[in-house]
Amino acid sequence: MITPSIPEQGLHSNFKHFNFKVKRLTEKFWWQFLPAGLATLVVVILLQTGVCQVIEAALCDALRFKDPLPDRFQEWLWLVTLSVGMGLGAWLPRWRFRYQLMTWLSLCLGWGVLGWLLGAGSQIPVAAPMLLFGLCGSAVTLTESVRTYVLLRQSEKRYALALCGTTEGLWDWNLRTDRIDFSSRWKEMLGYEGEEIGDRPTEWFSRVHPSDADALKLALADHCQGQTPHLECEYRLLHRNGSYRWMHSRGPVVRNRWGIVERIIGFQADTTDRREAEMALQRTVFYDALTELPNRTGFMHRLQQAIDEAQAHPTISFAVLWLDIDQFKLVNNSLGNTLGDRLLAASAQRLKSFLMPENIVARLGGDEFVVLLSQVQYAHDVTRMAERLQQLLSLPFNLDGREVFITVSIGIVLSSAHYTQTEPLLRDADTAMHCAKALGKAQYQVFDRTMRTRMLLKLQLENDLRRAIAQGERYANMMGIATQIDSPRLPDHRVLETYADRLAASPDLSSLHQQLQIYYQPIVCLTTGLVVGFEALARWKHPEQGFLPPAQFIPVAEESGLIIPLGWWILRAACRQMKQWLTAFPEQGFLTLSVNLSSRQFSMLGLTEQIRQILRETELNPANLKLELTESMVMENAAHVVDVLYQIRALGIHLAIDDFGTGYSSLSYLPRFPINTLKIDRSFVSQMDTCIDSLEIVRTILVLAHNLGIDVTAEGVETLEQQEQLLEMQCEFGQGYFFSEPMDVQAITQLLERQQPY
Ligand code: C2E
Ligand code: MG
Ligand code: MG
Repeated sequence: MITPSIPEQGLHSNFKHFNFKVKRLTEKFWWQFLPAGLATLVVVILLQTGVCQVIEAALCDALRFKDPLPDRFQEWLWLVTLSVGMGLGAWLPRWRFRYQLMTWLSLCLGWGVLGWLLGAGSQIPVAAPMLLFGLCGSAVTLTESVRTYVLLRQSEKRYALALCGTTEGLWDWNLRTDRIDFSSRWKEMLGYEGEEIGDRPTEWFSRVHPSDADALKLALADHCQGQTPHLECEYRLLHRNGSYRWMHSRGPVVRNRWGIVERIIGFQADTTDRREAEMALQRTVFYDALTELPNRTGFMHRLQQAIDEAQAHPTISFAVLWLDIDQFKLVNNSLGNTLGDRLLAASAQRLKSFLMPENIVARLGGDEFVVLLSQVQYAHDVTRMAERLQQLLSLPFNLDGREVFITVSIGIVLSSAHYTQTEPLLRDADTAMHCAKALGKAQYQVFDRTMRTRMLLKLQLENDLRRAIAQGERYANMMGIATQIDSPRLPDHRVLETYADRLAASPDLSSLHQQLQIYYQPIVCLTTGLVVGFEALARWKHPEQGFLPPAQFIPVAEESGLIIPLGWWILRAACRQMKQWLTAFPEQGFLTLSVNLSSRQFSMLGLTEQIRQILRETELNPANLKLELTESMVMENAAHVVDVLYQIRALGIHLAIDDFGTGYSSLSYLPRFPINTLKIDRSFVSQMDTCIDSLEIVRTILVLAHNLGIDVTAEGVETLEQQEQLLEMQCEFGQGYFFSEPMDVQAITQLLERQQPY
């Protein structure tokens, strides 16, 4: 049996250890010396009872000596017996020669002295130890051999049982012969049996996966050099069926007394299931299931590594590109979620195959991808890469035979020493991406500090807007009270006092100090030139920045969710104003008020109830109200949109699709929706007289709408030619600077007073 070498420890080093040794020695004494002692006793008795002479006579007889042996010959005989005894004694197992010699000498001396004292001559003391050694050696050797054999068999049985009970395969590599003894389980693990696998190391190493071979060799070398307490390595081995199985080997080396490694023995366990479970877990934690790209967590991990590397070696620089697909929601809603997902997966695949392996592309979620470009030398390399990525993704995607086009906006951040964490870096990339989005579609922007300032300004604007809306709501509440005061039904003195008190307490609530205001742009019947309605458009008189158009604050309101209170405030205030005009000019009861509805409002629960409540409050006839939805809003909520639209129509309210023609897929859904009006987007109308395509689009929209029984309003009419062209194409209504710009309440009141054709 082979056992790994264990460093020796002196008896004195540990008392317990010493005790143990003494006990073992005592056991040995009885085991080895008792038979010897007994044998000696027997020999002494035999000699003393004259058997010695009998043996001598027998010997003489055997050697055919007629006479008794001469003394000298007898001496030689004893010398031979002595040598035989010593030789046998030397065989005593586990008993070193010097101990035997010492024992023999002491016995000789003891028996010599005893023989001299008893006058028995020198033969007895010499003969007795010789016999002692002979008998004792033989007895001990025999018993030891039997015992060793029994123990070996038992241990082999235990070992075989242990091997049967384990699922691990044993390998025993003898470095002197360069042969490896593989257990049958080891072979089974790879789908082989018996002699199918030999005992050469190549049988093992030729099956190791090329990517793991170096790691295994290194682990073996490290352990042989004593750098690791035991060999431990995980690697893939080629199975007979052609697949790779993960194996884990663990074991010690066996060294000789000079510390040279003689063999390495190890157990090999199949860890494929555990590895696969680990990898599946890792995939869910660090990878995105749809695109198989690293997810946010995975990317953050890599990004932190890149940051640490750049911190440690200032010459290394990298860049992060944050990609966002423009109007992806629209794509998703018009093509369906499944195709949307496939588009994302295809984009991911395209990015992955385009980028070099040292660069990382990840999906942060939704339609947002992020690229980590390593080894960046110049900033213009990064911007060139951004352009190439935009070109790459602008190529058509073929999804189920449909050609889909997308554009991406990209925010870029270049690494610098002040980025020590991932979060600020990603935040800046996001800011840059939003700045790129603000410039329009398919743009890229490199982050600079002014962007953050602009973001802060935006945040400031958001806060100001929140305050302005609150002020507007307080004013609206007061106007409600004022209406009650005007009403003959509620002549309540207490209410009057409250209104007067409130106005006195906060003069900024008077309409003159209102920050948020509504302007109204006339919509004109193209055949008669008469005003048929108005579109309510929000305006903000910012206390510091002055007059702000909707383009500057509606996106902020949309993003922050403030569009919801703002939208309801506008609807309520505009309905109230419209009611006042209709009351003042009852002969113009046909007028309609168009109010823009934001997508956030549209997807709100209880939308129709809220509208009904406002109509009830303001007492406006629903037939005088038209709600404008954008194409994208309808598409974004396509699933439940039809129900909602029918509910609104059921209230008696008209519906219009605003900015028609700018959406993703405009025509197919139209017949399903209860729409009264299409408002052709300004971009087509304004180019109608210069661009034949725009003219044709307007014509097509008109034909389509009329076929579906929908009337059309042309937005952005600025010239007489446009008005005439539209009239010729039988467009019903027009809205634009040619007729009038949006005006405040007083201007519209004057207009209504002298209603005359444009
Ligand atoms: P919109 O609903 O399409 O409104 C028409 C926009 O076109 C208005 O811009 C109007 O002033 C402008 N316009 C009308 N005729 C002409 C013309 O002949 N030439 C040019 N160049 N422009 C013309 P405005 O007031 O700046 O509003 C822009 C957009 O902001 C609106 O587009 C609407 O989408 C949004 N918006 C305005 N007020 C509100 C509101 O109260 N709620 C919501 N949700 N959105 C609003
Ligand atoms: Mg509109
Ligand atoms: Mg519009």
